[in-house]
Amino acid sequence: MNKRIFLSSPHMSDEGYEMSYVKEAFDTNWIAPLGENVNQFETELALMVGSKAAAALTSGTAAIHLALKAAGVEAGDIVFCQSLTFSATANPIIYQNATPVFIDSDYETWNMCVKALEKAFIKYPEVKAVIVVHLYGLSAQMDEIVKLCRKHNVVLIEDAAESLGTYYKGKQTGTFGDYGVFSFNGNKIITTSGGGMLVSDNIERVNKARFWATQSRDQARHYQHSELGFNYRMSNVVAGIGRGQLKVLNQRVEKKRYIFEYYKRELNSLEGVEFMPTNIWNKPNFWLSTITLNGKVRPIDVMKALEVENIESRPIWKPMHMQPFFKNYDVITTGVAAKLFENGVCLPSDTKMTDEDLERIARTIKRLWWA
Ligand SMILES: *Cc1c(COP(=O)(O)O)cnc(C)c1O
Repeated sequence: MNKRIFLSSPHMSDEGYEMSYVKEAFDTNWIAPLGENVNQFETELALMVGSKAAAALTSGTAAIHLALKAAGVEAGDIVFCQSLTFSATANPIIYQNATPVFIDSDYETWNMCVKALEKAFIKYPEVKAVIVVHLYGLSAQMDEIVKLCRKHNVVLIEDAAESLGTYYKGKQTGTFGDYGVFSFNGNKIITTSGGGMLVSDNIERVNKARFWATQSRDQARHYQHSELGFNYRMSNVVAGIGRGQLKVLNQRVEKKRYIFEYYKRELNSLEGVEFMPTNIWNKPNFWLSTITLNGKVRPIDVMKALEVENIESRPIWKPMHMQPFFKNYDVITTGVAAKLFENGVCLPSDTKMTDEDLERIARTIKRLWWA
């Protein structure tokens, strides 16, 4: 059997930065649960992305949940949510007993369609918050989206779980809205094995999120709670991995870009192949190299051929408005997300791949056009 090639697997630094921070936590017995690594990870990430405050949490999903809470989203409120995404973007809307209205994508960005968002504001003027996503490390059209949210006085949350290291017009994605969310799950561009971060320029709201994330303990000698609490805080051991990974983020982005450019060179001229849109105002992190197939060779052919070679690939996210669980919620549709799901494939984008690995993948795919 050939060596397994993964879609995107954890990649620790060659220098062992992560281990040294974790070891420090062990040596000082700062295991349970908060400590220097958590505080420093927050400070370092906030500085890197250019936000005034950050709260380290157990997951990106928890960060989206607390962003909604911080935005004041409550039972019965309407939240606009990009449809083409992972379910973790939308689930926290349900945790808050709020109502999602899904917004379809456009071909220019693959992310939230500005025209569909405009329509949604007309149909649901009472909307409380908007969640936009920067899918696969491609930024959404932030100028227009921010403008619309400001005009309608609605809180904007950016799900930047896949886009740490992605810049829109020179500014890190996740820092345009009122709240930004990053994920450090095992398959993301950097990982802590599991974890997330909430960022914002509103220091008071981030402090509040930290309070909720640590069981909402009031200032008192005894355990006193005047609000509902959550156990969402990142541990000091995990934060050590994150601090180490921050040091290699740029290296990871460089390799992801190299992988994308390699595929583009090798596959772009194949009949029906189109690469994900890298707009000039966008500096993507290329988290996953993704293509659509609009000709004779179908996504399933590519995925099956790769699987035979022990190579992992995946369809594009199935839109939320097509998910059985969300079928009763409204969608402002353009038809684009459904098309991208039908025709899309995420190619292996593991930063540990060698040139030989990339050659093996390209050869396997190209063979389908010779048949
Ligand atoms: C991974 C991901 C999340 C969830 O992050 P977790 O840390 O796994 O909870 C949310 N949204 C998108 C778009 C993601 O890719």
